[in-house]
Amino acid sequence: MKKFHIHYKLLFSVVVLSTLFFSFRKEDDEELPTDKKYQTEYVIVLVIDGPRLTETFGDSTHQYIPNLANVLAPQGVVVPQFRNEGPTYTNAGHTAITTGFYQKINNMGLELPKKPSMFQFFLKEKNLDSTQAWVIASKGKLSILANTQNKTWHNQHTPSQFCGVDGKGNGYENDNKTWKNTKLLLAQYHPKLTLINLLEVDVRGHQNEWPEYLQAIKNTDKIALELWNFIQSDSIYKDKTTLFITNDHGRHTEGHKNGFVNHGDNCEGCRAIYLVALGPDFKKNITLPNRYEQIDISKTISELLHFSNPVSCGEVMTDLFK
Ligand SMILES: [Zn+2]
Ligand SMILES: [Zn+2]
Repeated sequence: MKKFHIHYKLLFSVVVLSTLFFSFRKEDDEELPTDKKYQTEYVIVLVIDGPRLTETFGDSTHQYIPNLANVLAPQGVVVPQFRNEGPTYTNAGHTAITTGFYQKINNMGLELPKKPSMFQFFLKEKNLDSTQAWVIASKGKLSILANTQNKTWHNQHTPSQFCGVDGKGNGYENDNKTWKNTKLLLAQYHPKLTLINLLEVDVRGHQNEWPEYLQAIKNTDKIALELWNFIQSDSIYKDKTTLFITNDHGRHTEGHKNGFVNHGDNCEGCRAIYLVALGPDFKKNITLPNRYEQIDISKTISELLHFSNPVSCGEVMTDLFK
């Protein structure tokens, strides 16, 4: 009888242990088919063209970026030592963001990026049509971001675009108009991956108009908040969207060449930019000391949206994540 009792205990333990084992296995199996580590289903990158860091997060009063610093930053992560480590002009900075690869590129819109973009890898791997990724830009010349000169990828899985005054890549559009168009396009298609460019800061800088340049930083700061509010008030985007707000380049350090009027070289003012990252998978109300850089954006997006990005030279910005 005692012997039977021992066997009974042993049998009982085996049953309990195997039940536990298989229930753990079952949980693992349930996560596998969806392949989802993150809540993010949509990503938007807002590129504010050409503010110098000394007028944004480098100014401790944040007087020209009240919305970014006081409303958005507490809801996400700020990287005030973000960098452009490639050529510091518009088409090169944007190309570094979309391809994860620094290259010298014609700045008039006459040359396509050497490497295929995150839009193309994403649309192909997820088998999505072109309305699910968009390039929307005040600067028409940024229509180059929607394609590549790479022979295998040229005209393949290209995103939709609305760039410039006509949406077809011509001229410079007013940022308020671009923002209006952006809202219409986001509401109509709910693209999963979108890049938006706003130009006013850069243009006012080149015009050597200091008060207007500062006002442009405030204007784009306001649009950044409106974009986040738009996302959170949209039933499809709400709580499933990650927003990156960054710059393509800075401007010359004060006292170097013509200061805020221009950019394009290796000076600290041209390289130093910021990143604000908000979304359901990121930390909140934290400032990171990391020197992440533009090419890390595409790699981080491919991690968030689960697609491979073999050409990006960047790294996943793991410290952004919860
Ligand atoms: Zn410029
Ligand atoms: Zn410079």
